[in-house]
Amino acid sequence: MDLEKSKMPKTKNTIVSKVLAKVFSDVESSLRGEDISLEAGFFGENSELAAYAYILSEGGEAESLSQAKAVDAILQRIYRDEASEVSEDNMIACLTLGFYGLLFAKYDDEDFRYLYRYAMRAIRKYSVVEKWLKKALVFESLLHHIDSEGVFSRVLFWLKYLGAPIFNPMVLAETCQEFDVDAEKYIEQPEIKLIDTIRRHSEYLEEALGKRSYHETRNATKDWLPDALSSELLSIYRKSANDEAQSKIRDDMSPKDAFKQVSEVFKKTGFQSNSESVLPVRLQDLHSPPDPPAIDPIVFELIPKKLRMDLLSAVAYSTKTKRIEVIFLGGARIGQSGILIKTDTGGILMDFGLSVANHRIPEWVPELEMIDSVLVSHSHLDHIGGLPVLYEKYTGKWCSVGFTGAITKALLQDAIKVGTPHLPRKKDKWDLVSRFTHDNVDKVSKNHVQLELGKSSEVGPGILVTPIDASHIPGSVSYLVDIEGVKILYTGDFNIDKSVLFPGANLPTDPDMIIFDGTYWGRVDFDRHKVSETISDVIQTSGPVIIPSFAVGRSQEILVTLDNLGITRQRNVMVAGLAEHITKLVGISGNWQGLKKNKVTLDKEDVLVAGGGMMGGGLARQHFKEHRKNPEAAVILCGYLAPRTPGWNLLHGYEPHDCQVEYARLSAHSSASNLEKYIKSCKGKKVIVHTPYPDAPKGLIMPEFQERIILKT
Ligand SMILES: [Zn+2]
Repeated sequence: MDLEKSKMPKTKNTIVSKVLAKVFSDVESSLRGEDISLEAGFFGENSELAAYAYILSEGGEAESLSQAKAVDAILQRIYRDEASEVSEDNMIACLTLGFYGLLFAKYDDEDFRYLYRYAMRAIRKYSVVEKWLKKALVFESLLHHIDSEGVFSRVLFWLKYLGAPIFNPMVLAETCQEFDVDAEKYIEQPEIKLIDTIRRHSEYLEEALGKRSYHETRNATKDWLPDALSSELLSIYRKSANDEAQSKIRDDMSPKDAFKQVSEVFKKTGFQSNSESVLPVRLQDLHSPPDPPAIDPIVFELIPKKLRMDLLSAVAYSTKTKRIEVIFLGGARIGQSGILIKTDTGGILMDFGLSVANHRIPEWVPELEMIDSVLVSHSHLDHIGGLPVLYEKYTGKWCSVGFTGAITKALLQDAIKVGTPHLPRKKDKWDLVSRFTHDNVDKVSKNHVQLELGKSSEVGPGILVTPIDASHIPGSVSYLVDIEGVKILYTGDFNIDKSVLFPGANLPTDPDMIIFDGTYWGRVDFDRHKVSETISDVIQTSGPVIIPSFAVGRSQEILVTLDNLGITRQRNVMVAGLAEHITKLVGISGNWQGLKKNKVTLDKEDVLVAGGGMMGGGLARQHFKEHRKNPEAAVILCGYLAPRTPGWNLLHGYEPHDCQVEYARLSAHSSASNLEKYIKSCKGKKVIVHTPYPDAPKGLIMPEFQERIILKT
C-alpha cells in the first residue's frame, strides 16, 4: 500500500493537526509491521482505531490492529442491525471508529447519522454521547473553518442533520477552548448571552427579555434556542400585546375600528416575525372581542359544516390581504414537509411531516402558532408526522380528503407504538418533538375535517382551497389555493403516470405559483412493465417469497399487481400487519388473505406482503431471518431504501444471505419525463420541493429552510 500524506485531511488548527499527524505516524508504523503508540487517542480511545480507519479507507489491510478489528466487527454488526446489547464503552468506541471513517471518507454523512442515532437508542446516559459528540463536531468543523463563527454554524448544521438536541452555545464554547479556538468574541455577543440566560433560567423568562421588542428577541435567539423555548417567548409577547390591544377596545366600537386599533398596537409593539411582516392580527384572540357582524351568507355556504363554528369570527373580521408570503418550513429536501401560506389576517399550513431519518419536524416560525387550518395532502409520515407536535398548542382543524384521515390516525398510533421519537429528544422538554404524545395524537384524531374532491372551501379568512386528485396513494390530493384571485397550487406528492391503482393526476397549469413534488426531477425513467416481469419471474421460480413494502400505497399496489398477474390464484398470497390493516381500511380487495395468527413459519407456496419497506423491523424482517439461508426463498424489495437500512444493506451485499434478492423498483411519484413535460406547460413561479436534487435546476426555485417567497404586496 502506497501512503500519500496529501490524502490526510488538513486544517490550520494546531490541535487537530497534531492529532492527524499522530494518526499518520501510527499508520506508517503499522504498515512497517511495528507496534503503534500506546498513548490514548484524541477521544481517549485506543490509538489503533484512527490508524485502522485510515488504512481501510485507503484500501489497505490492517489485520495486525486486532483491537480495532474487534471494534470494527461490532460496528459492522451495528450497521447490519444485528448487534444485540452494545455496552456503553463499545458504543463509544464504534462511534469513534465510525467518526474517523467519516473524516477519512470511508463512510459518508448518512452512515454517520445512522450510527449516531443508533447510539442515541443504545446508551441510556445521553450525557456520555453528548460529551463525545461536542468534541467530534468541533473537530470535524475545524477541517472546514478556522474561526469560531464558522465552527459554531457548522456544528449547528450537524446537530440539525443528526437530529441531536441543540447544545447551549456557552457549553460549546468550552469545547472550543480544548481546541485552542477563541470563542470569547462569539459568546460575548448579547444574542448568545441572552440565549444562555433563557436556557438556564427559563422560569424567569419574562424578566430576561427586558425591554426588547418581540422582533429583536426573535432575531437574537432564532439560531440556537430550542423550539419549545421560542414558542414560550412568543406566548409571553403575544399575551402582553393582546392585553394592550384589549385596553383600546370599547364596547361601542365596530369590528372594523376594533381591528384597526388592534393592528396598530401590534405594529407599535414590534410584533413582527421579520423586518417586514407583522404577524397576523385576529380580534378573536382577545379575551373579550366585540360582537361579530352578520356573516356574508354566500361565503358561509362555502364553508363545510364542521368548520363553520371555528371559522365564524375569522370570516367576520377578515379584511383585504395586501401581502401573501409562502414560508418553507421544510425546505426543499425530502423529509419533513411543511409549507405555510401567510396573509395579513391569517394563514394556512400545508402538511406537517416528520423526517424518518432524524425525527425532525419543519422549522418553527411564529406564524405556525397563528394559522387558521392545516391542509394535509396525504398520509405519509413525512407529511403528517409532525401533527401531534403541532396539536400541543394548536386548537384548529386539519383537513384532508378520502382515506387520509383514517390512515393518519392509524399511522400516528403505530408510530407511538414503535417508539417515535427516540430518546433523549423524547424526554427533552425544550425539544418540540417531545410533544409527540398519546394525548396529542388523540387531539389530532378529534380535530379532523373531511373535504371533498373538486369542492372549494374557505379554510382561513379569504383563503379558498380546492382539493384535486393526486394519484399518489389512496386519499392523496393536491390543493389549489385561491387568495383573492392569487392562485397557488401545492401538488403534495403526486403521480401523473397511470398505475395499477390510479389513473394519474391531472392538475391545472395556470396558477401564479406551483409548489411541486420533484422526487424524480432530472432522473432516468423507470419501467413499470419490467417491474411486473421481475415479480412474475421471481415468484414462478422461488418460494416462499417475501415482499417488504410500505404499508400505505405500496402494499396495495403490489397486491393488485399480484392479482392482475394471476399469482393470487396460483400461490398463497398473504398480507400482514399494518399493511393488512391499511389495505382493509381503504377497501381494496382481491384474492389474497391475512396472515393467520398461528402461522409462524412460511411454506414454499407462500407469498408474503408485509409492512416495513426498508426491512427495518416487523414481519418481513422476521421471516427473512428465518429464510436467509434458504436458496429456494426470495425477497423482492420494491421501494425507496434509505442508506444503512437493512433493506439497503441486503441489496448492497452487506447482509449475508443464500436466498434470492431482487429489486423491483416501483414509485408513486411522477416519472421524470412526464413531470418535466407538465412543469414546462405551467405558468407562474415554479418551486421544486421534496427532491434529492442538489441544486436548483434552471427556471426553478429551490427554497432553503425558512425561506419566504412574497407573492403579493
Ligand atoms: Zn408520499
